[in-house]
Amino acid sequence: MAVTQPMLIRETFPVGPLQCNCTIIGDPVSKKAIVVDPGGDPEKIMARLDFHGLKVVSIIHTHAHLDHFLASGRMKEQTGATLHLHKADQFLWDNLEMQCRMFGVPYTPVPAPDQWLADDEELACGCGVALHTPGHTPGSMSFWFADAKLLIAGDTLFRRGIGRTDLWGGDYASIERSIKQRLYTLDEEATVVTGHGPDTRLGDEMRDNPFVRAGA
Ligand SMILES: [Zn+2]
Ligand SMILES: [Zn+2]
Repeated sequence: MAVTQPMLIRETFPVGPLQCNCTIIGDPVSKKAIVVDPGGDPEKIMARLDFHGLKVVSIIHTHAHLDHFLASGRMKEQTGATLHLHKADQFLWDNLEMQCRMFGVPYTPVPAPDQWLADDEELACGCGVALHTPGHTPGSMSFWFADAKLLIAGDTLFRRGIGRTDLWGGDYASIERSIKQRLYTLDEEATVVTGHGPDTRLGDEMRDNPFVRAGA
């Protein structure tokens, strides 16, 4: 009898003061993992990694709003994993203390990113690829796992919503272009993990998203 292994381990759960969705992507064979947006609760993230028997090799960020990287320093300290961010969001990363003050969230320092993420860069596991999808912030990234039909969209695309563009460096024309040209061209069967709140299906957003529709 054939035993089917899942292609990748994926777990998403809300963390931190603003309940950002943190995602663990793990390879069931090599046991290597990446963590996306550890915005808080490092103990909880470590416990889930332990539960799956995974070793995190890189910590990647959809963007540098405070709620998406508050636990990145602690995670790096405890695991030795490297921190990855698009360079266009460096100014936000460097201004974490100011962001925390503005949102009334306790500040914990986070070391500088180890590597800049590039458009179309291959990720450390799950055959994922990084897509530069600016608009919510200049350095916003989405992460696409074609084999698993999984899209991690950060705060760019939500279930029947899109990210706000009124914060530092946000730009409506850019987010609209990013969603139409980079996300709505992917497999419509894909599950979309959003930055906050529930998952959605890409095809449903292409048809029913009230802000940005495919072809409209
Ligand atoms: Zn954001
Ligand atoms: Zn957010």
